[in-house]
Amino acid sequence: MIPQRTVSVGALGGTISMTTDSNGTGALPSQGAASQVGALNAQYGISVAATDIALIGSPSMTLTTLLRALAFARLEVDKGACGVVLTHGSDTLSEAAFFLSLLWDREEPLILTGAMRPADAPGADGPGNLAGAIRCAAEPSMRGMGVLVFFADFAHSAMLCEKTDSTWVNAFSSPGWGPLARIDAESITHVLTPAHRFKPLPEPNPDVVIDIPIVTAALDDDGAAITSLGRGSTGGHEAIVIAGAGAGRLSTRAAEEAKQLVRDGEIVVFVRKTSHGVTTTGSYAYPGSESDLIAGGLLPAGLLSPEKTRLLLHVLLQAGCRGKELARELRTRCLA
Ligand code: ASP
Repeated sequence: MIPQRTVSVGALGGTISMTTDSNGTGALPSQGAASQVGALNAQYGISVAATDIALIGSPSMTLTTLLRALAFARLEVDKGACGVVLTHGSDTLSEAAFFLSLLWDREEPLILTGAMRPADAPGADGPGNLAGAIRCAAEPSMRGMGVLVFFADFAHSAMLCEKTDSTWVNAFSSPGWGPLARIDAESITHVLTPAHRFKPLPEPNPDVVIDIPIVTAALDDDGAAITSLGRGSTGGHEAIVIAGAGAGRLSTRAAEEAKQLVRDGEIVVFVRKTSHGVTTTGSYAYPGSESDLIAGGLLPAGLLSPEKTRLLLHVLLQAGCRGKELARELRTRCLA
C-alpha cells in the first residue's frame, strides 16, 4: 500500500528526458523517470514513485503508448497515489493531455509536464516543471479537475491549453482563456475551476488508425485540397477536419467542395483557424460562412483546435457515436 501523499510519476520521453549527445548533434532521450525525479523525492513532504513508460520524442507519440500511460495512472491511483504526473515531450503534449482527459475517470489529478531545455542545458526547466507538477498532483484542491498541463509555474486545463511557442521556456498557454492556477515557492493560487467535466468516454482500440485528415483553408482557396479528400480518390475517411478562416469560414469554392463531401457521406467538421476563439454559428450568411456550412451539413468544433477536434472525433466514432448523437456529443464537448 502506497503511503499517504505519494505522487506517481510516469516518464514518456521528450526534452525533459534528453541530454545532448556526445557528438554535439542535438539532444536525445536518455534519462528515465528515476533520474528526472532525482532530488525531488520527499520535497514538500510528498514521496514520489518513478516509473518508465516510454523514452521517445513526442512527435512519435501514439495512442497505444498513451493508453499504456492511462493504465499506469489508473493503477497508481488504485494503489493509493494522490495524483499522477506524466512527463511528456512538449510538441504533442497538449494533444496527449486532451486525449487522456476524454478518458480519465478518477478524481485524482493527472498532470502532464515536460521541458523546453534538455536536462544538461544551462537553466534546464525540467526539474522546476516536474516539481510544480508533483505539488499540483498532491494538492487536494486540484482533485476533480480532470487532466491538467503544468508548465512554467502555471496549471492549465487540458481542453484549453496549447503549445503556443516553439522554443521559449514559457511554451504553453490557454489562448484567450488563461490558466487555472499559479504556483510559487510558497503556495498554489487557484483562480479558475473548469466549468465542464464530461462523462469519460470508452478507450478507443489503438490498432484502429486515426483516419481523420486536417486540411487548412487559405486565401484564394480553390478547394482542391478539400476535393482531394473525396471518396472518389480515397474511398472515404473516418471524418475530415477543415480549419477555416476566422471562425471557420471557407471560400465559396472551398465551401462547395466541403458540402459535396457531406453529400457523399463524409463527416466534415469546421474549426477556427485562429489561435484564439471559437467557431460561430450564425454571424454571417454569405456562401462559405458558418451558417452556409452548417446548412450544408458541416459540424462546428467550438473552441477546440483542429488537432483536438481530430482526437475527439476519433474517440467518439470509436465509441459508436453516429449521426445526430455524434453531432450532439461533439457540440456538447467542444462547447459549440
Ligand atoms: N521539443 C520537444 C520537447 O520539448 C521534443 C518532444 O516533443 O519530444 O520535449
